[in-house]
Amino acid sequence: MSRSRIRSLDTRLANQIAAGEVVERPSSVVKEALENSLDANARHIGIDIESGGTKLIRVRDDGLGIDQEDLTLALARHATSKIASIDDLEAVATLGFRGEALASIASVARLSLTSNASDDASAGLCAASEGRDMQVSVRPAPHPRGTTLDVRDLFYNTPARRKFLRTEKTEFNHIEEVVKRQALARPEVGFVLRHNGKTIHSLKPAIDQVALERRVASVCGPAFMEQAVPIERSAGDLSLRGWVGLPTFSRSQADLQYFFVNGRVIRDKLIAHAIKQAYRDVLFHGRHPAYVLFFELDPARVDVNVHPTKHEVRFRDGREIHGFIFSTLNRALAELRPGSDSATSSVLVDSQITEPQFDNPPVQRPMALMTRDANFADKDRHTFVAQQTSLARLYGGTGSASRAGQWADHASSAISNTADMPYTEAEVPPLGFALAQVHGVYILAQNTAGMVLVDMHAAHERITYERLKRMRDDSGVRAQPLLVPQSLAVSAKEVAVVEEGQEALAQLGFLVDVTGEEQLTIREIPIALAQANIEQLLRDVLSDLVEYGTSDRMAAHMDELLSTMACHGSVRANRRLTVPEMNALLRDMEHTERSGQCNHGRPTWVQLTMTELDKLFLRGR
Ligand code: ADP
Ligand code: MG
Repeated sequence: MSRSRIRSLDTRLANQIAAGEVVERPSSVVKEALENSLDANARHIGIDIESGGTKLIRVRDDGLGIDQEDLTLALARHATSKIASIDDLEAVATLGFRGEALASIASVARLSLTSNASDDASAGLCAASEGRDMQVSVRPAPHPRGTTLDVRDLFYNTPARRKFLRTEKTEFNHIEEVVKRQALARPEVGFVLRHNGKTIHSLKPAIDQVALERRVASVCGPAFMEQAVPIERSAGDLSLRGWVGLPTFSRSQADLQYFFVNGRVIRDKLIAHAIKQAYRDVLFHGRHPAYVLFFELDPARVDVNVHPTKHEVRFRDGREIHGFIFSTLNRALAELRPGSDSATSSVLVDSQITEPQFDNPPVQRPMALMTRDANFADKDRHTFVAQQTSLARLYGGTGSASRAGQWADHASSAISNTADMPYTEAEVPPLGFALAQVHGVYILAQNTAGMVLVDMHAAHERITYERLKRMRDDSGVRAQPLLVPQSLAVSAKEVAVVEEGQEALAQLGFLVDVTGEEQLTIREIPIALAQANIEQLLRDVLSDLVEYGTSDRMAAHMDELLSTMACHGSVRANRRLTVPEMNALLRDMEHTERSGQCNHGRPTWVQLTMTELDKLFLRGR
């Protein structure tokens, strides 16, 4: 290679290089444009797309507009109205702040920006940049208050990038996903999305809770809202709101996961880990939870300037935030048991079958359609895809312990009287009273809403498991010394974690000494894990501690052991149960955390309401 002279890049080339990071595909342009419109307080945003965005992307808003004198600057790189000093960067409240999106887009497409910051609808200017140094030309162009960004022929001058474009449909799908995210993040804003002149989505501004729920249902599919648990918790400046899908509403892909930090959609390892940990005990292996969560915190505690596309963030107090999110969701999921406030009947549904429909209002899904879920086919399990009814509404909360005794007394007499249920609604426990055992596998029960089927092994397994966990938590983890202490080589970072985290490790039943700059010696281990691969486990725990400041691996591992014990100690199928035994199991379920799913994440019970039964038999009431 011959040596070349150093020279400054011309403006367009410099911007094209910057565009490499920011403008990956048409949807990136839409994302930047929507962020600008939202930052300008737009209430309505119209998005027109032609040919998957390769031909045209036009985003029109009714926001504040851009002052005439500033219009030229808007297209220049490193020009922004959103921050002015490094202090502002410490606590950014807007979606944009880098001042490079428009300049980048303008360097790889034919861009024009028309704006009017006044109420005089005959005013307005249109700016476009040309040539190697991206000279901006401005001409009058009437525009109502607000801004229109017009981007044509994306990548016309960067053939390498153009080659990476996929089909029109794929590119449009990406655009749609970007619009969905912003539509969730900002329900108070109306969005209209058109493709090739056809309106694909039209979302009105949502002003109240009902409208908000309707918007989430339009974006995530009505089935999600029907089977989601509302979340609402704040502590200090942290707050978490939104919905998480019931464990039985899991997905084969992680495609229904929306997490917003101060209104910005992000993908973050720390957050993903906290959520996964909360679902650990209730999700069927290999399935992914669905959620829409809005997390708010003091902007000074989160660094949004870690990535040009701002998809990633860095939290200043990762450990505290991890703990807050985990504990909030863990609590909400633990409380899912028959009769609890947010528990709907636990019907196994593969949410894949009801794909999200963007702009349809929530609809009633087909009821009691017996189907076989491919993912569970090996378990030979039939599933009801039935309309979900909130049991909480039917029962209005759980009963007291003395009630439970009373129910047990009534149980046998209830059986003979089931035909007319001699109880007032308030007296009938959520899962009702047992009627019979079906093929030694299921308990058939009757409650106020209709009929209940319980998988007795699955239910008993969860009850035993939760009991074992409680016993362990009460008595603490017991440790035993190793006869031959085990040393292992680790990184200096991991040594530091051990030095700081002796207490955390002791709680897990570990005694670990630092015996060198990069060496540890394990002296005591938890008794319960005597048979496990301790070295591997400790390594995993340390890497968790380095990454997230916390680790649940040990607990997960012990839970697994307890779960196996519970499984072996639970009533097997084909055992005859007496009616009082069955009723006792139902009452236990009502008082056990997470009893809606067995230890493997399968549902333990199914409700079929009278309405659903009537529909099955085409009986109009
Ligand atoms: P950033 O958003 O990081 O500031 P951009 O290149 O996206 O950088 O936009 C540059 C500037 O142009 C913004 O700071 C803003 O002042 C102005 N601007 C862009 N789009 C709009 C819009 N839709 N409404 C009002 N102002 C806008
Ligand atoms: Mg911007």
